[in-house]
Amino acid sequence: MSIFYKADLIITNDGPPITNGIVEVNEEGVIVSVFQDDAFQDYKFVESILIPGLVNAHCHLELSHLENKISPRHNGMAGFIDQIFSQRDNSDFQECTNAMLLQDQKMFEEGIVAVGDISNSAVSIEVKKNSRIHYHTFVEVMGMSAASAQSRFDNGVSLVNQFVQNNLTNVSLALHAPYSISKKLLQLVNEHLKNNSASSIHINESNDELLFCKSKSGPLKEVFEKYKLPVNDFDNISDESVLIDCVQQLNNASPFILVHNVKTTTSEIEIANSMRAILYWCLCVNANKYITNEVPDLTNYLNDSLRVVIGTDSLASNHQLSVWEELKTISQLNNQIPFEQLIKWATINGACALSLQNKIGKIKPGYAPGLVQVLNVNVNAPSITNDSYTRRVVS
Ligand SMILES: [Zn+2]
Repeated sequence: MSIFYKADLIITNDGPPITNGIVEVNEEGVIVSVFQDDAFQDYKFVESILIPGLVNAHCHLELSHLENKISPRHNGMAGFIDQIFSQRDNSDFQECTNAMLLQDQKMFEEGIVAVGDISNSAVSIEVKKNSRIHYHTFVEVMGMSAASAQSRFDNGVSLVNQFVQNNLTNVSLALHAPYSISKKLLQLVNEHLKNNSASSIHINESNDELLFCKSKSGPLKEVFEKYKLPVNDFDNISDESVLIDCVQQLNNASPFILVHNVKTTTSEIEIANSMRAILYWCLCVNANKYITNEVPDLTNYLNDSLRVVIGTDSLASNHQLSVWEELKTISQLNNQIPFEQLIKWATINGACALSLQNKIGKIKPGYAPGLVQVLNVNVNAPSITNDSYTRRVVS
């Protein structure tokens, strides 16, 4: 049996917003029809605005137990990595699982329907198997020495297979960051991805990163030496742009999520977009504020045709895994970005980045996007204020 929801405004991502619109949803959460009919009576009224379910395009669920354990803005990127390295072996399985279960539930309640989740281990498998959220797992590989590239790659592939064996088939390889991978490892991952699977990399996150990549010096070098990483084996990046150097090595037309972009310039965006990979520009502003207190220049992303997506990163570098809190911070940083564009970043664009654009991201017949109610907004001139929040209406 269908349920009809009527809202003051419905943003469908499938045509203009509908004032006093009605959405018909079946028992499986699939949209049956979307229409406007003032005479229609048999509906549940949903105050304010309805949008499709939210997509968190970049998360690390397996780091959820690190909530409040990493000091914010402690010696920038290098200080952050130092703290992560020193904490990484201090967790037990049950503690990790409990923390992940709690965050999975919180994301669900906020209205998040899909997550692009970075995994370095199998610890999240049970939580993902039982979750009502759709996870795309990015098995992350790293290793700055070319000599270790094949074994790092093989380990990544075997972890991918572990997810597949547990019926978590939305899984692919991803690269950690330009400062932690060799060219050889990038090539192996690129060949493996072919034309069918999404991938990602953390990039242009800080000055520390660019300094290390170009000249193998600075605070990151000191941290890597402290933990005995093979700094001498790392090949400097000679290209003027670390981002372009990376993107030009991707020779397939797959979705590729560039995460952070704190240092990304308009010229990099323009050049990279002319290359083969289908690039998604992921913003994780609350994590940037947490780690370095530097954020991307949001005026670079005002062009509506850019594929911008929203990520939360992890609880090692954020106070919550909330897509809505990210949008709030973005709105505080730049109030020129239209409400509808922000909703697009947080819904359909993320769906496309995770190759889910035929299932979620639109309130359209045949889709099962989840329905999310936005509260405490002015329906006549919507904007994301500090008091606004979201609530899930339909799973
Ligand atoms: Zn991350």
